[in-house]
Amino acid sequence: MPNTREGLLSMPGIGRKCADIVMSFTFGADVIAVDTHVHRVCNRIGLTDAKSADKTAQQLEERSPDWALRDGHFWLIQFGKRICTARSPKCDLCPVADLCLWLKVQQKQDQAHEQRNQNVRHFQLRHDQEGAQLDGEKRHQLCLPRL
Ligand code: SF4
Repeated sequence: MPNTREGLLSMPGIGRKCADIVMSFTFGADVIAVDTHVHRVCNRIGLTDAKSADKTAQQLEERSPDWALRDGHFWLIQFGKRICTARSPKCDLCPVADLCLWLKVQQKQDQAHEQRNQNVRHFQLRHDQEGAQLDGEKRHQLCLPRL
C-alpha cells in the first residue's frame, strides 16, 4: 500500500478523506481527515469557508497550526457528534460559541425575525385603533349611537 497521499489517491475508489484517514491512522501522519462532522463544524465556526469536504481539508491543512494536526481529527469529530450536531447544535453548551460565525448569523436572523413580528403587531394595533376611530366618526356623522 502506498504511504503517501498522492500514492493513495492514485488508487481506484480512494478519495481525499480515505487517503487522509489511512495517512493518519495507519502511518501516523499529522493530517486532519475531513468527514461530514469535521466539515460541518469547521464551516460553522468559521475555521474554513468551503462547500465541499475536500476543500475544507485543503483549507484546514493551510490554516491549522502544527500542534493541532495530530489530534484535530479526533477533537473535531467528537465535538461534531456531541455538541455541534447537524440538526440541533447545543450552542448553549458550546465552549466556542463566542467565536462561532454560524451562531452570530442565527442570532441576527432571530433578531430580524423578532423585529418583523413587533412591526406586524404594531401596524395591526394601529390599524385597529384607526379603524375604531373611523368607525366612531362615521357613526357620529350618521347620528348613530356608539355601541
Ligand atoms: S455555537 Fe453552536 S453552531 Fe457554533 S460551533 Fe458551537 S455548537 Fe456549533
